[in-house]
Amino acid sequence: MRFVPRFTDGRSFDQPLGKIVCVGRNYADHAKELDNPVPSAPLLFIKPATSAVALDKTLKVPGERGEVHFETELALLIGETLAGAPPQAAENAVVGIGLALDLTLRDVQARLKEKGHPWEIAKAFDGACPLSSFVAVVSAPDWSALTFSLDIDGERRQSGRGSDMLFAVPALLAEMSRHFTLEPGDVVLTGTPAGVGPLPGGAELHLALEAGATYAGLNITTRTAD
Ligand code: ZN
Repeated sequence: MRFVPRFTDGRSFDQPLGKIVCVGRNYADHAKELDNPVPSAPLLFIKPATSAVALDKTLKVPGERGEVHFETELALLIGETLAGAPPQAAENAVVGIGLALDLTLRDVQARLKEKGHPWEIAKAFDGACPLSSFVAVVSAPDWSALTFSLDIDGERRQSGRGSDMLFAVPALLAEMSRHFTLEPGDVVLTGTPAGVGPLPGGAELHLALEAGATYAGLNITTRTAD
């Protein structure tokens, strides 16, 4: 059955999840930790709806394919069709803010990158996109003030701030919509800050989002399977 995005009040979005459009290297400190150059245009890729799982459940870590890295990212639920949209129309189409893990088979990805091959099998597998519930949005928040974090077993591993994005939300959505029409039910992942690493089994993950003065944040605790 198709994954349906939910809001924090328990309401389901009226469309099933579509595609998940993602950006690589949207934080300079993360590009640097993987020895990647900072891009002059956003590096875009897509995860299919079949990669989504609810972030509140126990997370399965796929085995036998090398290291599985966590990448904690701000996730945006799209509520209107966007094609070649200007930045302001694009930001106004966001109806929910949540958190996601862009799970990545890092060893597999490294081999693919070496050969110049596409990344899909490293990033688009079933379960590769744990997604939280979304904080409902009625008007665009101050994107630069959004902050989020990931703790594993009580230790801070990642923290991000909207103002550290190389491509801020309105410009990023506009650029995405030049290449791919964004539709209601699509989700956009906005990139990960530094601190990515292998996801341990049997660990407790705590993810938090501060969405500014107008909106309540998110606090999610989940565990990885042993
Ligand atoms: Zn990512």
